[in-house]
Amino acid sequence: MDASVISKLSIDTQGIVRSASGRFDWLPGSERDVPAGTSFIDLLPSHLQPAFSLGIGQLDRGERPWFDQQSFTVDTDGSDVALQFHVPKTSAKPILECTVRDTSADLIDNRDRVFRAALLSAQHHVSMDGIVIVSPESEILFWNERYAALWGIPREVMERRSIQDVRAVTSQMVVDPDGVFLEGFQTYDHSRDIAEDELLLRDGRVLLRHSAPVLDKDNSILGRFWSYRDITELRNLQHAAEEQNARLNALVQNNQDIVISIDRHGVIESVNPATVEILKYPEAELRGRLITSLIAEEDQALLQDQIDSAQQGTPEEGEFTATRPDGERAELRIKLIPIDKADGAGDFWVVASDITEAKQAATEARAAQLALERAQQLTNLGSFEWDLSTNQLIWSPEMYRLLDRDEDPEVPLTVNDFMSAVHPEDREQLGMAIKAAPKTNSTYDIDFRILRRDGSVRMVRGAGEVVLDQEDTPIAMVGAVLDISEQRRHEEALQQLVDLLEEKTAALEYTTAEQESFIYSVSHDLRSPLISIQGIAEIIQTDYEAHLDDTGRAYLERIHANVRRMQAMLTGLLELSRIGRTEKGSRHNVDLHKLVTEIVDELSGTSGAREAKIEIIDQLPVVQAHYTRMSQLFMNLLDNAIKYTPKNRTPVIVISCETADNGWKVSVQDNGIGIPAEYQSSAVGMFSRLPGGQRLNPNGSGLGLAIVSRIVTTHGGRLWLESAEGEGTRISFTLS
Ligand code: ATP
Ligand code: MG
Repeated sequence: MDASVISKLSIDTQGIVRSASGRFDWLPGSERDVPAGTSFIDLLPSHLQPAFSLGIGQLDRGERPWFDQQSFTVDTDGSDVALQFHVPKTSAKPILECTVRDTSADLIDNRDRVFRAALLSAQHHVSMDGIVIVSPESEILFWNERYAALWGIPREVMERRSIQDVRAVTSQMVVDPDGVFLEGFQTYDHSRDIAEDELLLRDGRVLLRHSAPVLDKDNSILGRFWSYRDITELRNLQHAAEEQNARLNALVQNNQDIVISIDRHGVIESVNPATVEILKYPEAELRGRLITSLIAEEDQALLQDQIDSAQQGTPEEGEFTATRPDGERAELRIKLIPIDKADGAGDFWVVASDITEAKQAATEARAAQLALERAQQLTNLGSFEWDLSTNQLIWSPEMYRLLDRDEDPEVPLTVNDFMSAVHPEDREQLGMAIKAAPKTNSTYDIDFRILRRDGSVRMVRGAGEVVLDQEDTPIAMVGAVLDISEQRRHEEALQQLVDLLEEKTAALEYTTAEQESFIYSVSHDLRSPLISIQGIAEIIQTDYEAHLDDTGRAYLERIHANVRRMQAMLTGLLELSRIGRTEKGSRHNVDLHKLVTEIVDELSGTSGAREAKIEIIDQLPVVQAHYTRMSQLFMNLLDNAIKYTPKNRTPVIVISCETADNGWKVSVQDNGIGIPAEYQSSAVGMFSRLPGGQRLNPNGSGLGLAIVSRIVTTHGGRLWLESAEGEGTRISFTLS
């Protein structure tokens, strides 16, 4: 080791002595020891302090201090020492090493001193800082080129060495000359304080101002040292960083998705409000927790794997189930994004969106899609979407089956693909209908044939509708194709049946008409012989009665009775043959209620009606019918009901009505002798007279019910009877 070295000091970036060794008797005053923690600046003679604290500041900012590699002679009370500084390059954190040598033996060459002073001055001149030293008398003692350049002060002004002249220029340049700038000078001009502040210039630059007193050995003020550094870039960078940070923060805080930052171990460092909202954990419970602990057990290992592989720097993404404190689950899509940090700490952003509802919706949509496909399959209904701008067709699966196509459903089809499946004979018509629809914004509905690859032909019904955008421009067509082959077959079979029925009905009508004209001519033709018989019987009675004995008279009386009966029967037959023959056109609105009420009133006035109680319990309808026939119908039924009630019983007749099928059902109920079951089917036939009825009404012709039945059928109705022997009969019929 160099024998002239008397002590060594290590000084940190704050100017604090970290370690000291050797002698310190060269120090001024009573200080003979330098413990770690002492301020190095305080050890120096006061006139050196400002310059050295500037150098320490440079060291702190990671710059090379101006006195690095320099040697300074210090006149102390005891001996002359030289302080030599250097910053070892190897140290991670800059540290200043100061070697103190005894220079009393040295012959310091004056030239050397001059040289050193020149060097110092040169350093000041090349410094990044603009430096000016001003005496208390406002004289500029020192200035460097950088100072003049920073403030743009012409050299001749500087050379006048008047700080007032310089300030006249600089005060024009700062944004707030009265405040910060001038105040700064007034406060510090004669102060012993060290100060630092920032000046904002009108041209946008920001200067860092540092100032310190320059003190003489006796502590008197020699002047003030001012240095200015342009920190505009630095500030801009800082602002940009702050802005970036604020933006990131806003983005994180207001994000609807979960944003969590985690460290390399997966421990949560911070969460945004959406995290608390979605996961339902209080924020305090989330911080410091392992991210995997929020995930359902079965997914935890997978997430840990992803965190591990994300450590390699690739963003990872996956779907996970999260569990909430209440045990409920949430489906999350999680993205792991490595945070680019200079220190490579391996932190991540965990960005997760809640896809619970989306997943649910997707499942439901899938189910709906399947249901639709199934429904289409069951109904042989295919659907399509035709994008008019791209001319592409999208078919439902059933459409492919229906049209017998096996193209890849992923490949969109064109209208031509569709047309090639259509039966050649139907193409033109269908093509026109499809083309016309978008032009007229209308729909089409058309039946056409499909020619399948196996040569079979299917009948389908195609319907389409134009979809318009907000400006009413057609953008698409949607529609369906339905296989109606089966339906067509059924329709055709049904039509055949209808045709057959019509034929049969026509034949039946013909026979009925034949029958009617036969009855008519028979009843008509039988009249004259009957009238002859009656005439001869009357002649016998008037001219030959005296020749007849009692037996003969009785026979004659029986001839008369039978002739009367025959006449009644012929009248009834004629009547029957007339019904419905020429009456189809003469139907009008008939108010049945009014009609029946009148008949009942009429009946109650006749002796035949006895003391019958006739009641209409429902409102009877107004129907399209032949008035006289309706009147005949009710007269016959009421006549029967009264006549076929035992003499010792008061007839109680109830007329009721209810709606039925496409019209009404009317019933006439009595409490008469009833019709035995074995006669019920024949009672309605012509000339049918039943034993019980014959006793009560010997003169009946047996045609009343036949007439009623014929009236009902010619009016499109149906008649039937229900009866219990001895209790009564209910005759019902329908009318429309
Ligand atoms: P007409 O009505 O032509 O004078 P008729 O009453 O004998 O003669 P229908 O009205 O056709 O003929 O009746 C046929 C037979 O049915 C009657 O003779 C009677 O025996 C029986 N009959 C009809 N209506 C009733 C009834 N409401 N109760 C019991 N028997 C009835
Ligand atoms: Mg009758």
